[in-house]
Amino acid sequence: MRKLSAENVTYLTAVRQSLHQRPEISGEEKHTAARIIQELKQAGADQIWKNLGGYGVAAAFCGAEPGPTILFRCELDALPIAEKSTLSYCSEIEGKGHLCGHDGHMCIVLGVALGLAERPTHGRVILLFQPAEETGFGAKAVINDPRWPEIRPDYAYAYHNVPGRPLAEIGLHAGPATCASRGMQIIFHGKSSHAAAPEDGASPGEAMAELMLKIQTLGSGSISDPNFGLSTLTHARLGEPTFGVAPGEGELRVTLRSMTNERMDEMITKAQAMLEEIKPPLEVETFWHDVFPAATNSANTTDIARSAAGERKLNIHEMQHPMKWSEDFGRIGLDGVNSTMLFLGAGINQPQLHNPDYDFPDELLVVGAELLLEIIDKTLDFEVN
Ligand SMILES: [Zn+2]
Ligand SMILES: [Zn+2]
Repeated sequence: MRKLSAENVTYLTAVRQSLHQRPEISGEEKHTAARIIQELKQAGADQIWKNLGGYGVAAAFCGAEPGPTILFRCELDALPIAEKSTLSYCSEIEGKGHLCGHDGHMCIVLGVALGLAERPTHGRVILLFQPAEETGFGAKAVINDPRWPEIRPDYAYAYHNVPGRPLAEIGLHAGPATCASRGMQIIFHGKSSHAAAPEDGASPGEAMAELMLKIQTLGSGSISDPNFGLSTLTHARLGEPTFGVAPGEGELRVTLRSMTNERMDEMITKAQAMLEEIKPPLEVETFWHDVFPAATNSANTTDIARSAAGERKLNIHEMQHPMKWSEDFGRIGLDGVNSTMLFLGAGINQPQLHNPDYDFPDELLVVGAELLLEIIDKTLDFEVN
């Protein structure tokens, strides 16, 4: 059983707190990536890939004999949210903070690098530090990078910390793990006119009011329903804040969310049919943003992770349904890789993800890294049997 030394744990904690002080948001992770490359070199990585799909970094740790490729993914990016805390290592960058725990996720994966000072007997471990997870661009960009075939794994794992669950509990679920989601921006074009003569123009007001009610009916059921869908109106704008003008322009923003990618396709088709009912002279334009596919856990990798967590005597939470939020790790599964997303309890009283006072619990660094090291051995055993 691979273990991290007390010295390694102290080191990882110091790296985590220093990354926490210098958060960089999606697509701007230049200095974070440089720091990670320096750490991976120091840990003796056999090969390092830079600038994958942006500032992404991957490192290979190779066994002496050929065998499967096992990938662990973590995220480089922080959030455009100001941190509010009294921590000695509070963010030094105004308006930005590591408020999703990606600083901790990176250090867990760096812990795997330290634990691989003694290489696996065979196969290859890839540590992937993915850019731009929060915007949904990163995983897609890494997979579209021409060097992805060099690192494409047979088995892939990722994990996210979960505030509100007991510290160090492992949440698992074969099948849907996180939901698909996407932002729908609808722009209405009409014609403005004098407020005394609205009949001379074409206000989108009535069509927008109808759609605001109707589009929310696309959702159905609760997260315990396998056909779960949710349509949330997030923004509405109509004309200008005046009294003299009947509006000629408007905008709605709606977030669509579903348990499966098939259900998402169905919601999109129905939403588009609703827009087609809007009659001229009004015109509508649709733009899509923040597109995340559902992440679906493979049965074999989930079984492997469960047995690794059992070996490490960690409490396992067999999840009844997926997380309602989204994660772009799902793209790796869609690329045909056996993959599992795990959830690490971050403590019952921990502030929620993206809250201004959230901070990754350092106690999870050793737990997470040793669990991933165990997953390597269990995956190699699985291949043999
Ligand atoms: Zn986040
Ligand atoms: Zn996150």
